[in-house]
Amino acid sequence: MSPADDYQDIRDAVRALCAEFPPEYHREVDGQRGYPEAFVDALTKAGWLAAMIPEEYGGSGLGLTEASIIMEEINRAGGNSGACHGQMYNMGTLLRHGSEEQKQLYLPKIASGELRLQSMGVTEPTTGTDTTKLKTKAERKGDRYVVNGQKVWISRIQHSDLMILLARTTPLEEVKKKSEGMSIFIVDLHQAIGNGMTVRQIPNMVNHETNELFFDNLEIPAENLIGEEGKGFKYILDGLNAERTLIAAECIGDGYWFVDKAAAYAKDRVVFGRPIGQNQGVQFPLAEAHIEIEAANLMRYEACRLFDAHQPCGAQANMAKYLAAKASWEAGNACLQTHGGFGFACEYDVERKFRETRLYQVAPISTNLILSYVAEHILGLPRSF
Ligand SMILES: Cc1cc2nc3c(=O)[nH]c(=O)nc-3n(C[C@H](O)[C@H](O)[C@H](O)COP(=O)(O)OP(=O)(O)OC[C@H]3O[C@@H](n4cnc5c(N)ncnc54)[C@H](O)[C@@H]3O)c2cc1C
Repeated sequence: MSPADDYQDIRDAVRALCAEFPPEYHREVDGQRGYPEAFVDALTKAGWLAAMIPEEYGGSGLGLTEASIIMEEINRAGGNSGACHGQMYNMGTLLRHGSEEQKQLYLPKIASGELRLQSMGVTEPTTGTDTTKLKTKAERKGDRYVVNGQKVWISRIQHSDLMILLARTTPLEEVKKKSEGMSIFIVDLHQAIGNGMTVRQIPNMVNHETNELFFDNLEIPAENLIGEEGKGFKYILDGLNAERTLIAAECIGDGYWFVDKAAAYAKDRVVFGRPIGQNQGVQFPLAEAHIEIEAANLMRYEACRLFDAHQPCGAQANMAKYLAAKASWEAGNACLQTHGGFGFACEYDVERKFRETRLYQVAPISTNLILSYVAEHILGLPRSF
């Protein structure tokens, strides 16, 4: 049996919850540029967003495979996991590198829904993908760190209680390797906003709440440092394989949604006296999209399998994200084309899903950077940066 056929109980349960939030719900939230509050609450109450939190902290202790199925099903049902996926992987940073005290303090509350850890602040406006050059500094002053700098594209700040923040604690000139000297902190957003941290929302193509953050002497208690000072970049990297694999699963959910939607429309829509789906010019792009989604799915399950077995999975996670983001984008394009003019009408949801899935060629990592990873780390080609 293929992994895609396993976990039917999880699929059925998530599908049943998603069915309570039909396409009209997501369309309306998108139209209002709102947040799917009721949907995220329902997912939280049902325990789905605590899937990867160990049972001893109130979660269900499931693996990445199960978590990825939850994300896939949300997107396959016409929703958008982008509103809530941060919690799935951000809590992993705390789980792997936080002290027992921090885990006891936060994880049970995250699992119960009392606290949301939906945000991670890494990207900066002047340095972009070149993360080790980031300029936000955190200086230790007694029992606090004082943060100054700026971040951009930091998502879900206005719907989260906590944020993981990456900042430089030792100047770049003073470290042996550029990846050293950065640290991560857990920031209480309610305390921070208005007390050294300002938030400015960025209107954007997708209904994705994302923001510029400005730090002007933001004070963070020293006990909010996660792990050892100076090792933050390594800790963030540790979490990327889970993030990439989960995003791959979301793209696969989108891909299936596009192909199913397009196939149904192509059977129904009659032009020149026959269903448009009888024309090979309409069939082939959909068949091709289906093949590519299925292929991406195999790589996604391989990344999940290795991750859950605690084996290295950087190559598979990156390749799954690459293949799935490309497959969902091409499926979206084929779906839109199949719908002709109606693909542009909001009531068909195609244009919304088309915008949503496009993001994954750029964030959380752009396609070029994955190609660069494969070229250098797998093929052993010389480093280009
Ligand atoms: C909606 C949205 C939500 C986001 N949410 C978050 C978040 O919650 N937290 C967070 O920290 N970040 C977030 N991001 C940021 C996201 O991770 C970055 O946008 C992404 O990593 C690309 O960085 P950049 O935009 O600075 O592009 P740049 O680094 O400026 O790159 C621009 C383009 O040039 C290409 N490029 C750059 N250097 C090279 C090279 N050496 N070789 C080949 N090509 C290259 C890139 O691939 C890209 O296509 C979000 C972004 C968006 C759009």
